[in-house]
Amino acid sequence: MAQATITIKQRLNYAPGHAAAFTANQELFNQVVAFYFDVIQAHSQILDLGSQDALRALERLTHATEKYPNPVMPLSALREDIPAMFRRAAINAALGLAKSFHGNLKRWRTRREKAHAKGKKFTDRPPVPPRSWNKSVSFYAGLWRERTVNSVMLKVWTGVCWSWIKVRISGRDLPAGYAVGSPQLIWHGNEWWLHTPVEQAFTAPAKVEEQVKEQTTIKICAVDLNLGEQIAVCSVQNAEGTILATCFIGGGDAISGFRKMVLGRIARNRSKTGIIAEGEQDNGALWQKIRRRDDNEAHRISRRVVQFALEQGASVIVFEHLGALKPEKGKYSRRGNLKRAYWMKGRIFHYSKYKAWNERIITCRVSPRNTSRDCASCGEKVIRYTQGWHPQEGYTPGAPLVRCPACQMRGHADRNASLVIGQRLFARYRQAAKQEKPQSRRGRSGRVVKATGVIVSQDAQRCEQPSILAARHGDRHEHGIAQGEVFWMDECPPSLPTQLRLFEE
Ligand SMILES: [Zn+2]
Repeated sequence: MAQATITIKQRLNYAPGHAAAFTANQELFNQVVAFYFDVIQAHSQILDLGSQDALRALERLTHATEKYPNPVMPLSALREDIPAMFRRAAINAALGLAKSFHGNLKRWRTRREKAHAKGKKFTDRPPVPPRSWNKSVSFYAGLWRERTVNSVMLKVWTGVCWSWIKVRISGRDLPAGYAVGSPQLIWHGNEWWLHTPVEQAFTAPAKVEEQVKEQTTIKICAVDLNLGEQIAVCSVQNAEGTILATCFIGGGDAISGFRKMVLGRIARNRSKTGIIAEGEQDNGALWQKIRRRDDNEAHRISRRVVQFALEQGASVIVFEHLGALKPEKGKYSRRGNLKRAYWMKGRIFHYSKYKAWNERIITCRVSPRNTSRDCASCGEKVIRYTQGWHPQEGYTPGAPLVRCPACQMRGHADRNASLVIGQRLFARYRQAAKQEKPQSRRGRSGRVVKATGVIVSQDAQRCEQPSILAARHGDRHEHGIAQGEVFWMDECPPSLPTQLRLFEE
């Protein structure tokens, strides 16, 4: 079973005095978290246990019971009357922090050893345990009750005593059909909000490989992410390669204009003070502006990509791997802008991934190699141009239109790229299925998950020569491809010539 988790964020209405109680409650919670972090530091073998066992071990060390009346490090030294569920929430928070800290420490030690083994000087400082604690309180079952659509009772430490406080909830409702998890009180700048994770169990969708190989009615949504105005271009195609729908998601110019303006302001501020100080007060606010806008855009675009895939009934969304960011020349605002546009591509992928998963759609990536240079109809190299600007020949990076000299295909360059991305996913598994004899299938399947278009070609290289020739022969003659015709007829992958050409280069 797979799990879909969404966090529902709701604004709270509470009496002004209750804000102080929530603050006191969070302070106490963080004291308990810090206490358990120290206990774990003193007994670091606890981190090797599973989470349930670790919880049990920590309670035994700190909490007096009839069976174990004398704990080694009693929590009662901090406070006597901490509710069991409050304690457990704090233990789990401390375990999470300790795991992350020890993971970092371990990686740092490995890096140091590697550097020493090579005889290099190693100057990276080791990670330090957190010095301040600002965890939000989770209300485990027993610490909240009587939850309705617009109110909930929370058990909090008011600074004087434990008391039940009723708060009113506004904002979106909890979705139906989900199991409600432990709510958290979160400080949002100047008021307290309630974040509630809701979960739904579902049967995990089949893996991409199985879907492509076994489902003849599969539809996939291929996404090309760009640095230009059309940030994302999505196209849906079926197993035969028929293009069912295309969606352009714009807004790139607006966000890039905004970034350029703010980066310019940052640069001017710096030139005035003569110091490059990122944490400086006014620039801090400007950086935050950029970060928030970028994040917002990534959420907006990823949401639209997933919605489009959902509307079209696609069960797989395919992206290309991010290529390396090419160093750019130009002004500070231009370089900074491009760098952020590039980072946003990565963020759009990650946001789409979890959003799609919650809709039972799988996300995967293929090799970015030449996706915008190949023709989606015949696989030949395309001409990329701007209407009425350049002579219509050669490849002008970033130009909006393409024309294929071989098959006379004309169209939008990013749409062409998204089609190539989709075809590449089909080619990955079709080719595997075609070239392989059953005995080699097992060995392949593990690698295929990560495989890229380029790896496919390496696989072809690894095959014995005659089989390649046979495959190519079959393609060229049995299924001669008419100009402009749609691909993926029968089980014969017509991208084979393209793939083969890749490794001949
Ligand atoms: Zn073509």
